[in-house]
Amino acid sequence: MSDAVKVGFVPLSAAPRGILVVFCDDALKYGPATRKALGAAANLVTRAAATNRFKGKSRSTLDILAPEGLKAPRLIVIGVGKPSEIKDNDFLKLGGVAAGKLRAGNDAVTIIAELPDGAMKPDQVAAVASGVRLRAYRFDRYKTKKKDGEDAALRAEISLAVGDVAAARKAFAPGAHLVDGVIAARDLVNEPPNVLYPIEFARRASQLRKLGVDVEILDVKAMTKLGMGALLGVAQGSTQPGRTVIMRWNGGKRGDRPVAFIGKGVCFDTGGISIKPAGNMEDMKGDMGGAACVVGLMHALAARKAKLNVVGAIGLVENMPDGNAQRPGDIVTSMSGQTIEIINTDAEGRLVLADVLWYVAKKFKPKFMVDLATLTGAIMVALGTEYAGLFSNNDELAGRLEKVGMETGERVWRMPLGPEYDKLIDSQFADVKNTGGRHGGSITAAQFLQRFVDDTPWAHLDIAGTAMGAPKTDINQSWGSGFGVRLLERLVAEYYETRK
Ligand code: MN
Ligand code: ZN
Repeated sequence: MSDAVKVGFVPLSAAPRGILVVFCDDALKYGPATRKALGAAANLVTRAAATNRFKGKSRSTLDILAPEGLKAPRLIVIGVGKPSEIKDNDFLKLGGVAAGKLRAGNDAVTIIAELPDGAMKPDQVAAVASGVRLRAYRFDRYKTKKKDGEDAALRAEISLAVGDVAAARKAFAPGAHLVDGVIAARDLVNEPPNVLYPIEFARRASQLRKLGVDVEILDVKAMTKLGMGALLGVAQGSTQPGRTVIMRWNGGKRGDRPVAFIGKGVCFDTGGISIKPAGNMEDMKGDMGGAACVVGLMHALAARKAKLNVVGAIGLVENMPDGNAQRPGDIVTSMSGQTIEIINTDAEGRLVLADVLWYVAKKFKPKFMVDLATLTGAIMVALGTEYAGLFSNNDELAGRLEKVGMETGERVWRMPLGPEYDKLIDSQFADVKNTGGRHGGSITAAQFLQRFVDDTPWAHLDIAGTAMGAPKTDINQSWGSGFGVRLLERLVAEYYETRK
């Protein structure tokens, strides 16, 4: 298990068990239940704060071992800053900070979910609980010698003391499914490529059937019949055959057009014949981060029985150099009928997506399509690892993604598309070529994809900098971040779900 933390809720009035976690503001003020729990130890906290220059700044912490006058073996005080400046998405981080202070072997923890002016609201409590679980996640299933150190998994029972237990449970229920979805995505990204090849990835996606998702797996024969020559051209260099997986959640009205999410699932990318240098090539096990996100998102939406119709589609291949691998100079025919000249076999993700995007656009006529792909190193040159690149043919969809990006902290930055860039990918032998040269590499990749979406409202997220190896945060210490699951779940919830 990568997630051994149990989070539950108890009333604020209950006597705290185990390690005690409390919140204070930048005037070192606590809420009434916290004051009561601290009792005579409040003076101790004031003295310790002065010694440690702890001023209650947002997400700062004060850690007191064996505090005199308290039963708790340890007291952790977390600052929330100036009360008027607390934002909605701070609560997730506060939960993350709390979990970040805990070490392996902790068995009981009580977090008093209270601000200086009283109990946190149910949504805020739910966010703290989600933050705790997201931060506590470790991928350690291949470590046979688990030390009691920093990297060992936390195995704690964490109680959040809250004003209204029933309301907190209700608010956390969808959040818990969302956390499960993020963790499912992280697990997939973290798995080694000898374990997670296309057939195995498809098998794991098919476990969504337990949640009522309809899962269809297209094998090589089915894809050949459909004419998916672009995807199959990539897959042909590997002994592991490719797959396309179509996941459908029908939570909306019958016949209602679905929304669609498409993920690049290159289970390992050597670059193919245009082989990559050896340094850090192991990271290319994460070249399926887009597909992992789509699976995690489908999990989150199905588990909470989202009220809309959703299609998730992932193209799964392994890009290998081999006697049967495709060559630079090859020309393949995509499902759309457009021919593609292969210039560089390492620009394979767009070839996979070209066929899956076209298939979804034609078969399901979705309201919109969002694809996610660890597509280009160039997006990291442009944006670093803080923002994913956003490309879109639709201003409304792009604006919504930017907004939910700010709300969830999974931020996206819009980049240009335009017919001027098309010239860079015009081919002298085919309809289009698969690379556009060194300049604007992320843009020409997106411009390529646009030729395969027809007039469907569409957005492309280049998550090469955010899905794996991004800097660790308050809510993520894992190499695979699960980026995009929370972003797109929020997009759906805010704009596309019919409410009761
Ligand atoms: Mn590549
Ligand atoms: Zn790739």
